[in-house]
Parts: sequence; C-alpha cells; structure tokens
Amino acid sequence: MKIIESTDAAQRHVRERTGKSVLVPTMGALHRGHLELIRVAREYAGRDGEVAVSIFVNPLQFEPGSDFEKYPRPESTDEKFCADAGVNLLFRPRDMYFEDRSVYVDETQLSAGLCGAARRGHFRGVCTVVAKLFNLLAPAAAVFGEKDYQQLAIIRRMARDLNFSIEIIGVPTVREADGLALSSRNQYLDTDERAAAPVLYQSMLRVKELADRGENSVSKLIDVARSVIASAKGARIDYISIVDAENLQPLETLRPNALIALAVFIGKTRLIDNLRLT
Ligand code: AMP
Repeated sequence: MKIIESTDAAQRHVRERTGKSVLVPTMGALHRGHLELIRVAREYAGRDGEVAVSIFVNPLQFEPGSDFEKYPRPESTDEKFCADAGVNLLFRPRDMYFEDRSVYVDETQLSAGLCGAARRGHFRGVCTVVAKLFNLLAPAAAVFGEKDYQQLAIIRRMARDLNFSIEIIGVPTVREADGLALSSRNQYLDTDERAAAPVLYQSMLRVKELADRGENSVSKLIDVARSVIASAKGARIDYISIVDAENLQPLETLRPNALIALAVFIGKTRLIDNLRLT
C-alpha cells in the first residue's frame, strides 16, 4: 500500500498512474462501515484498479464548539486496517488548506434542512474538502455511505452541477446486531449510552411498521418516533424529519420516496440515522 501525505505527491501520483481509481473519502477511525465502502470500491475498480482511501479530519466541517479536537485519530491502526483491506493508496494529507484560502463550494438547496440547519457551515466544509479530494486524486468513481444520506445527496448534486466526471456510488448503512449504525462517534458512548443508542433505529422501524400498515400522516409518524426516543434514558432529539428522498423537502403526507432522517443526542454524543419508508 502506498501512503501519500502531501498534495504535491498526490498530484504527481495521479500523473504517473495508469488504470481506474475509486476513492473512499473518510475521517478515519475506520470500522466495518468503512470496510464495506472499500469492498464496493474494489468491485468498481477491479482487481487491477486502484482503491484509494483518504483520511482527513476536516476542520472546515466542524462547527465551533464541536468535537474536532477530540475526534479519534488512530493513525497506525487505520493504516493497518487499510493495508489489510487491500487498499492501494492511503492519502492522509498534512497540507490540505492554504492559510489564506478564500474559495469554498456551497450547495444551497439540499443543505438547507436536516443536519445543514442544525450544523451551520457543515456541508460547505464537506463540499469544499470533497471537491479538493476529487481534483487532487481524479478518481473515476467515489463511494459514500447512505448513513450520511444528506451528505450523499449533496455530493451527487455537487458532482452534477459542477460537472465532475466522477461516478458517485452510495452504499447501504452497516449496522451492529442491535441496529445501531456503525459510526466513529459510537466510541464516545459509555456503557449506559451504548445500551440506549439503538433507540434511533428502533424508532424508525416503528415508524416504518405504521407506514406499512397505512398510516400516512407525517406528524403522527413523527410523534410516534418522538415517544419511542423519549423512552430511552439520556436521549435528546435534535431533529426528526420525514422528507422526499430526492429533494430532501419535508413532507406532510407520506408518498413514494419518503425517508425518515433523525439526529439524537445520546448524552453528549450526537448520532444520526435514516431509513427509507416508502
Ligand atoms: P466518516 O469517516 O464518518 O466521515 O465516514 C466516511 C464515509 O463512510 C462516509 O461516506 C460515510 O457515510 C460512510 N459511513 C460511515 N458509517 C457508515 C456505516 N455505518 N455504513 C455505511 N457507510 C458508513
């Protein structure tokens, strides 16, 4: 596995590279969810293609007062994880931003609601760093998790609107046996919080059950999700929304393509999840 730590070296690598490259952008603290993205990337790249993983804890996408400082950075474990997973290139840049940077990528519609409303500037940071990674590594395709559904939708829109010739591939959410979506942030949870955390998935399953039985009032469905989450100790709802999965606009009545998305604090840890309802 080749490791590149500077943007110059990345551009040199791309000039000399032959064959197709598929990129998996991450912030590290790698887990089985990331492994599934790497597996899908290999499928697309083929045996002789390049699977590239980037690890960069992007300061631009952390709003003030969030967990940028304490975000886990297990460098050598992540390096071994990538080597064992058959990754060809690990890109962990030390020099992503110029101090006097003044250009950003802003998506202005899909990022208005959900996590974009709760975390001002977050998706601007995400789009800016992903656009830089796309330019630096020039992949044929890039793989993202549906766990961060809004992010995936925004990246698709960015690639479309800015004409990146990069195929965007979405991968279904990988979960623990009890339904909790894998996340690097799960390691912040103490024992009691970990026991409470599956309530996100349970609440969405309950909503899906009711939707499958014909309940189509979004406000009723959201009330049900709220009451399931209220039953878990230490859980505080940031938002629960039922939206159109294409344009992320809130719905009043269920119709095809509906998605429930939520963010819940378990103690101090903010977890997100989502599920297709129809
Ligand atoms: P992160 O390192 O948390 O920024 O995530 C990097 C990529 O992995 C993003 O595209 C995430 O959506 C994806 N990802 C994170 N957790 C999961 C999961 N449990 N299942 C599938 N994809 C995931």
